[in-house]
Amino acid sequence: MRTEDNILVGPSPVLPVEDGTAGRYIFNKLKKYVHIQSCITEPETGVNISYKKLLEATCRLAKSFISNGYSPNTIISICSENSVYYMYPVIAALYTGLIVAPVNPNYTERELLHVLNISKPKLMFCSKRTLSKIIQIKEKLPFLHKIIVLDSMETTKIAESLMNFISGSCENDLNIETFETVDFNRDQQVAVVLCSSGTTGLPKGVMLTHKNLMVRFMHCRDPEFCTARHIKEGGAVLSFMPLFHDFGFMTTLGYISLGLHIIQMQRYNDQVFLESIQKYKVESILVVPPILIFLVKSSIVDQYDLSSIKEIGCGAAPLSKETIVEVIKKLNIKNVRQGYGLTETTLLSIFSPLNCKKIGSTGKLLPLISAKIIDFDSGKSLGPYEIGEICIKGDVVMKGYMDNIDATRSTIDEDGWLHTGDVGYYDEDEYFYIVDRIKELIKYKGYQVAPAELEALLLNHPSIKEVAVVGKPDYVAGELPMAFIVTQPGKKITENEIHEFLTGKISQEKRLRGGIKFIDAVPRNSTGKILRRELRRVLQHESKL
Ligand code: AMP
Repeated sequence: MRTEDNILVGPSPVLPVEDGTAGRYIFNKLKKYVHIQSCITEPETGVNISYKKLLEATCRLAKSFISNGYSPNTIISICSENSVYYMYPVIAALYTGLIVAPVNPNYTERELLHVLNISKPKLMFCSKRTLSKIIQIKEKLPFLHKIIVLDSMETTKIAESLMNFISGSCENDLNIETFETVDFNRDQQVAVVLCSSGTTGLPKGVMLTHKNLMVRFMHCRDPEFCTARHIKEGGAVLSFMPLFHDFGFMTTLGYISLGLHIIQMQRYNDQVFLESIQKYKVESILVVPPILIFLVKSSIVDQYDLSSIKEIGCGAAPLSKETIVEVIKKLNIKNVRQGYGLTETTLLSIFSPLNCKKIGSTGKLLPLISAKIIDFDSGKSLGPYEIGEICIKGDVVMKGYMDNIDATRSTIDEDGWLHTGDVGYYDEDEYFYIVDRIKELIKYKGYQVAPAELEALLLNHPSIKEVAVVGKPDYVAGELPMAFIVTQPGKKITENEIHEFLTGKISQEKRLRGGIKFIDAVPRNSTGKILRRELRRVLQHESKL
């Protein structure tokens, strides 16, 4: 529905946003699904947990939080690869008002210190794989009280096992019927702090409230806008998206709220992906564009029976029309449903409605969300087919960036509009199309890479005078981080030396896979701001030659 001034408004919810906290909501759902044998299965190990087990473990962990004195607003972090235990602290924190701030388990020491110094967690949940990394930096994190290992039975002086932490503070036979979630003002209470660099600068902490999550759960129940909504309770969905990222975190909570069987890969692997779809008769998958390209191009795909797949949702990065058409043909499905959103909007704001025929569009606004496209210069809201910046408003918009009022103010304006930094338009039927990005962000296979972070690092090199990092378009990965470098007068540096300089300082998705180009000067505007679009144009021009 378009109102005055070209503001588009999503439909009314089919089912309303329920009362109460996100913790109470999930608790009630787990109780409802206790009869379902499989909640999360790890295909690599075959380890499986039932809804009953998840309910009991999360209630006991919540009790342990309380009896150890961790009250609402205590921040906990999780630094682990995906595992069946990952959601234990997440859900227990939701019950009790603790705030979860997950971090990328592949982060280097430098990256971890940056993000952990934003959230300052008291408790860190890690895995056997990430424990040594956390131990190495513990001395530099004075706020950190305790390290708990999710997937270990062993308790040492430095780290306690999850089972030990729970058993030490909560009886084995906790009566679930007497358990109650903690109540608080859900509109204000932060539930989770996720990382995003936003439109500019270094990674920041995106604060999402219990209310934000409750709106997300309403979207999960919407018959028109949720992918897995039509799968029967206990039906299988596959997920490999990292749980530290909004995509994995929110979709997993959503799947749990629908009583589905989540086949949760520790990390993406082609063979495990295909075998799991075949073995567990997976009905729905959510992917990022490179996976669809793999499904279309790779011949090993033909060796597997993927006929159980009824629907595919794709988001996080641009997806070409051609790829969609090929996937539909190859897998004999009705459509690839596209979604658009940001960590700052608690996941999706725009999604292909059921039976959407507009291939290439990212869909329509979800219930309770408004949007407008504004002119880059005047800020005026534009009509159909006019290209401008996408702005989003509604109860999915984050509370703000943690301890960063300036960044919050420059992203959410006084009227509550979140300026996304993405460029797009809508058509006469109010379907949206994403065409470009004006913010600094680079997306490599759906992962965020902040140019400002790489630029700051590279400028520390004595031979580098100026640097600009941009995303080089890539068919499979979407974009590859690439650096334009101006060397100091009289100094020389090779491409290899630059790659070596970055080794150990950055996680693998930030590597300069797009290469390095030496130039005479970085183009800037009159205020000194890097003209990234100009550099991107150079790349586009070169790729056409
Ligand atoms: P993140 O916060 O990591 O989920 O990244 C959000 C950003 O990913 C958006 O601001 C867009 O730049 C990009 N993005 C998400 N979905 C799409 C899509 N369907 N098409 C193009 N870009 C997208």
